[in-house]
Amino acid sequence: MPTDAVRADDPALADRAATWVGAYVHIPFCRRVCPYCDFAVVEGPGDLRAPYLEALKAEIAADQPFGGPLDAVHLGGGTPTSLDPAALGAVLAGLASRFGLADDAEVSIEANPEDLDAPTAEGLAAAGFNRVSLGVQSFDPAVLASLGRRHSPEQAGAAIAIARTSFASVNVDLIFGAVGESARSWESSVQRAVDAGIDHLSAYALTVERGTPLARAVLAGAPAPDPDDQADKYLAAESIAAASGLVRYETSNYARNGHACRYNLLTWAHGEYAAFGNGAHRHRDGRRSWNLRRVDRYVERSPAAVVAGEEQLDAWGRDVERVLVGLRRTAGVVPGIAGAALAGSAAGERLIAAGVLHAVADRLQVIRPLLGDEVGRALLALEPPPIG
Ligand code: SF4
Repeated sequence: MPTDAVRADDPALADRAATWVGAYVHIPFCRRVCPYCDFAVVEGPGDLRAPYLEALKAEIAADQPFGGPLDAVHLGGGTPTSLDPAALGAVLAGLASRFGLADDAEVSIEANPEDLDAPTAEGLAAAGFNRVSLGVQSFDPAVLASLGRRHSPEQAGAAIAIARTSFASVNVDLIFGAVGESARSWESSVQRAVDAGIDHLSAYALTVERGTPLARAVLAGAPAPDPDDQADKYLAAESIAAASGLVRYETSNYARNGHACRYNLLTWAHGEYAAFGNGAHRHRDGRRSWNLRRVDRYVERSPAAVVAGEEQLDAWGRDVERVLVGLRRTAGVVPGIAGAALAGSAAGERLIAAGVLHAVADRLQVIRPLLGDEVGRALLALEPPPIG
């Protein structure tokens, strides 16, 4: 199985993930762009798929391997299953050939429920994928319609059942807080997901991202998601998941023992990962860089010319980032310089006194994740310590 059979929130697992290496591959095509989505996606164009696949393979072949094989691979999007399993298998083979794949590597792919029939699932499993992440979002037809999703609750249930027979680990993504979603509807969606026997749950609040159709609608007077309603739904999801044996190990992620997502763990541990495709972000050699967002431009450039920007942080900036990202995990972080500065600051002491932050000698943890943004703001407001 791809992940260790330990509790998903185990601190040793969280820390060990920093030693893993991974790869992300972006597949940007979607049949229809959902009104809330701000990912680097395009609607439809079948004529770009073949050149995009060629550009991806060329970018993978031109990249530098890590010192060891990949511990985690994640194909996301967009909708990776808008391409057939053979094409996706060829991308995976390219990664394995260039980077190597650890024997116990997690090889994960995102899929929409309407795409995952039995032959597709079997084809993906035969190609080497051992984890699937299904974009279910809700089991309420009215909520699905308001989110612009194309599948029915029945299709979602069927896709989960198919996924469980083909993959070692099955995740379901749910979104809470769409306008018109009642508390009962949300709780019923979470309950149906966990009752379907999933191994992992990602439950995200609907957010209004700038430039999306949803943002334009809200600007024009449509109601926006209510933060208080979303807070209640967050707590309800945590309670239902916990009662079903899924442990919260990150702000929005829950897993059964042995099913924590390796790829996620390594990104939250500030680990290194390569990335391929339009808009893809990587973290290598202490540097973050990202590719051109437009698919047509990505396709027409050589692999050496697809990077659109990069950021090299100094030692303080890297440690702040490590703590900021690491505090998303229930396991928290080893404080280091930035974490110690946070715990010792006036804002940090207030957060500790309020029971938001927990500081012991070897660990800093956020106890109330709904107030995690307060911790992030306090951390980012710190001045670097004087040198020498
Ligand atoms: S299917 Fe997913 S990636 Fe595609 S538009 Fe909808 S939310 Fe975005």
